[in-house]
Amino acid sequence: MENYHVFKFGGASVKDADAIKNLSNIINKRLQNQMIIIISAIGKTTNALEEILNLKLQGLEYTTNMVALRQIHLDICGELFEKEAPVFAWIDNLFTQLSRQMEKNLAKENYDEFYDQVVGVGELLSTRIVQEYLCQQQLFCIWQDARELIRTNDDFRFAKVDWEITQANCKKLLLSNSSQFPIVTQGFIGREAKGRTTTLGREGSDFTAAILATCVKAKSVTIWKDVEGVLNADPKRFANTIRFEQLDYREAAELTYYGASVIHPKTIKPLANAQIPLFVKSFLNPEAPGTAIGNFDVQHATPVIVIKEKQILVTFRVMDFTFIEESHIHQVYRVLEKLKLKVNLLQISAITLSICIDHELFKLERLMQELRHFFEIRYNENLLLITVKNKEMNTIDGILKGREVLLEQATRTTFQVVTKA
Ligand code: ASP
Repeated sequence: MENYHVFKFGGASVKDADAIKNLSNIINKRLQNQMIIIISAIGKTTNALEEILNLKLQGLEYTTNMVALRQIHLDICGELFEKEAPVFAWIDNLFTQLSRQMEKNLAKENYDEFYDQVVGVGELLSTRIVQEYLCQQQLFCIWQDARELIRTNDDFRFAKVDWEITQANCKKLLLSNSSQFPIVTQGFIGREAKGRTTTLGREGSDFTAAILATCVKAKSVTIWKDVEGVLNADPKRFANTIRFEQLDYREAAELTYYGASVIHPKTIKPLANAQIPLFVKSFLNPEAPGTAIGNFDVQHATPVIVIKEKQILVTFRVMDFTFIEESHIHQVYRVLEKLKLKVNLLQISAITLSICIDHELFKLERLMQELRHFFEIRYNENLLLITVKNKEMNTIDGILKGREVLLEQATRTTFQVVTKA
């Protein structure tokens, strides 16, 4: 009888040597053979790799940033391992591969593919370090390349999972190995049919946990965070937040849709379909209860505030004295679909159609290019989309105080506003 448990540790939980020691203690207390441990890139490594890419794209010097990133990893290893430990050679090797990739040509046209080959290195580095450290602590475990497990299509940066092949890979590689030792593997990355690395979208390691859990029919998934569980607002922005003890899959999915960054939006669906419970717990306080997400049939009335950053509000205005009608909506949505841009909010007036979308490199430009002959287009960047679920007047007033509002929308239960950051 299989009895897998999946643990996912985000960047903050491996941000330095002490964090990795803490992770090792958490595992030590909960160790069992059938365990899959998914690790994100260390701290802000993914952002650092994105920055390196952007420098190259602009034709600027990027090697200083790369040297600094390498040094961060080496310094962490310096605190965890003896000088002659094999992990140092692994790190050198990965940075050499990264340098080779960076020497290739990068342009707007191949940006997405290039991005995945570069950014995925963060997880390869972190998992090597963590696996070596766990073994050094006598917590023997196996390093598994997630790209041998997760097969995707070639939508680079937003790759879609091929569930059938992934399931078969998991059966072949995980079910045989992990009955002997826990597996340590990378979040976020996969591989397309030709063997190129793909990624599942920023913060995608939670989704990796859900994919692997589903494929091995795990008993549970636990996401270890720097917060006490799922809260009704971001504790870094709001005082007196409330932790949910239990959340129904449905409610959790809704919160992730609005942008609650505690869980990646694609995580809940596969887990709910497979009826696998999801626990969100604090790696800073591992004995605390956290939040359990499952089939709880509870609907909370507490107001929940979710803030989505780096939003763009685009307004399309018809140019010929007609009103906005279905065909205009189709026209805009067709381009959005082509560019794989998700609409976070939509509002229609007599002659305008406004959408709120995430900031993504080059995409606004392409959207405007495709539609500028049909509409007069205006946009504002660097905005916040604030959602209040279970809306309540005091909470909304508090949020709106002193803010410049560009767009506002309310349903019976939910209030949303787009404001300047
Ligand atoms: N390292 C990736 C990111 O920062 C994936 C993840 O952490 O979930 O987006």
